[in-house]
Amino acid sequence: DSAMADRSVDSVCPYCGVGCQLTYHLKDDEILHVTGRDGPANHGRLCVKGRFGFDYPRHPARLTTPLIRRSGVPKGLDPAFDPAEPTTHFREASWEEALDLAARGLVDLKAAHGPSALAGFGSAKCSNEEAWLFQKLVRTGFGSNHVDHCTRLCHASSVAALMECIGSGAVTASFLQAARAEVVILTGCNPAVNHPVAATFFKQAAKRGTKLVVIDPRGQALGAYAHKTLRFSPGSDVALFNAMLNVIVGEELYDRAYIDAHTEGFAALAEHVRDLPPEAMAPSCGVSPEDIREVARLYAKAERAMIFWGMGISQHVHGTDNARCLISLALACGHTGRPGTGLHPLRGQNNVQGASDAGLIPMVLPDYQPVGDAQLRAAFEELWNTPLDATPGLTVVEIMDAIRDGVIRGMYILGENPAMSDPDLEHARAALGALEHLVVQDLFVTETAQFADVILPASAWPEKDGSVTNTNRQVQLGRQATPLPGDARPDWWIIQEIARRFGLAWDYAHPRDVFAEMKRGMASLDHITWERLEREGSVTYPCPADDAPGADVVFGDAFPTASGRARFSPTLPLPPDEPVDGDYPTVLTTGRQLEHWHTGSMTRRARVLDALEPEAVASLAPGELRRLRLAPGEAVTIATRRGHITLKTRVDPGMAEGMVFVPFCYAEAAANILTNPALDPDGKIPEFKYAACRLSPA
Ligand code: SF4
Repeated sequence: DSAMADRSVDSVCPYCGVGCQLTYHLKDDEILHVTGRDGPANHGRLCVKGRFGFDYPRHPARLTTPLIRRSGVPKGLDPAFDPAEPTTHFREASWEEALDLAARGLVDLKAAHGPSALAGFGSAKCSNEEAWLFQKLVRTGFGSNHVDHCTRLCHASSVAALMECIGSGAVTASFLQAARAEVVILTGCNPAVNHPVAATFFKQAAKRGTKLVVIDPRGQALGAYAHKTLRFSPGSDVALFNAMLNVIVGEELYDRAYIDAHTEGFAALAEHVRDLPPEAMAPSCGVSPEDIREVARLYAKAERAMIFWGMGISQHVHGTDNARCLISLALACGHTGRPGTGLHPLRGQNNVQGASDAGLIPMVLPDYQPVGDAQLRAAFEELWNTPLDATPGLTVVEIMDAIRDGVIRGMYILGENPAMSDPDLEHARAALGALEHLVVQDLFVTETAQFADVILPASAWPEKDGSVTNTNRQVQLGRQATPLPGDARPDWWIIQEIARRFGLAWDYAHPRDVFAEMKRGMASLDHITWERLEREGSVTYPCPADDAPGADVVFGDAFPTASGRARFSPTLPLPPDEPVDGDYPTVLTTGRQLEHWHTGSMTRRARVLDALEPEAVASLAPGELRRLRLAPGEAVTIATRRGHITLKTRVDPGMAEGMVFVPFCYAEAAANILTNPALDPDGKIPEFKYAACRLSPA
């Protein structure tokens, strides 16, 4: 009840990349409830997570003191372990002892085996400042580029394609521009579930005349607002998009003036897609040639059109090719650089854009400066006053393999939960268990922390100040609303203490000091100051002046490539890595639910959200359930070549027959036991959206 609140604090939602601004209403330092603010990305709206998912920091299992593994207790998941009573497996320690032990294990491994023996996972749940400090610690303290985070499991393939084709990994236009588009394509995304407040902008646009085209194997809530829906066969994305390009080229629906002025490589693309007509592609896509032609014409003939995409595009072994196709569609039709046009990968985590910008990526320094470029690297060597490694580091899944190979021996993991989020979990968990020294910094004893030697109690989002960057490139400020419980500490402070134990002379007193240093290394933050964020709440980058709003739409004149032009990058349809067959005849796809966030470490500890979705469910088409002779709610066992899980069934008319969807947030039926670790060769992203599985009544 707001009447009972004795103060309120303005901040930003800690969950998805929409970046809704909110206000915490508090009494006696407890958050009573949350309301939406009139932020640029939410206009006062919040979804169920933002509104009700605020009490996880006060969950009984919250870590409030540093922990050290008891001697003799094996590393790994023990079914008898209770995260709320961790002292069975860990003993409580002072910060001094825990930090000394945490750092000494890493320092000793580096001394014995060299910088390549260490790696770090930062987190897209952390602020820009925390991401900056974490990658700086790995690069200047550990001495390598083995630093990555969950973007690798999310949009790494999209970023690879965007960097290659248009020279920038961020969106070219915010989702607010959908209101000005004639046509909006939503593909491989389910915004009503995963970006709920962005979905309200899409619905609003549709009601005002924008034609929504939903292209996805799975039916979804926004389909009710769609002008056209194409439900294609899983994994046939490249064939479908090439067929659309074939129509655009064959019927000369492209924008010749735009292509001549702003792009290169169109002739080769046009030649390439001539052999990929809708009639040839349609059988594998599971949609009619007429439907492909209709959608291609609709998009190409629109005066202004946008493409939004999500993990359904990116999480494939051909994820980068999928994104290359979407970019080619936009470039061929001149649908970038103007209001109501653009390319927009909907970013997942609340700060995955900012954490990536800040350099939590193994092959690039902050602002996507390649580590191998001596001149660009020299600027950071001067800023940080230390030589930097010129070799790109290993990515998330590669790091797990390198542990198994005995190359990486020690890790520092901040806020990520690879024991739940990595593909082929048995493999990933075996790797975590094989580490000689693991330091985990988190809010809870997560599944990953159960493998740790030292656990450092971190700060939850409402307990700290920091900036975050949402899917629209809007940099926004989160503010501390509640005190830290017990002996938990701000993440920036903990990273700094580890850095000092690596001999680094760090002396930051507040995240604003870190932001000031970031501005010296990141041109993307030009004209954005901490004071401005405090005053205005949100500033979009790139921003042309201290008093100007940032650019909602970019690349109207030129692209940030060497030539200033965007490039077409032709692609060929490839099958999934593990096609269905007689033994494993069903397609498994994984993802999120509306109420739960990623591995569930926060939302499953938020009372309302956990009450709404308390247990693991597998979604199946009604016909699929009938075939299995199962009623909704009865249990199914899902097996792949890597393992099996058992969970309840739920009927979902949006599912295609021959498919099953499993959310990846439930430890008791961990979807990633099943998933295929095969990687996209460019983005190094695993194929979470397609694995061959077998269903049987449990
Ligand atoms: Fe939070 Fe995303 Fe929901 Fe907004 S849409 S309230 S940012 S989870």
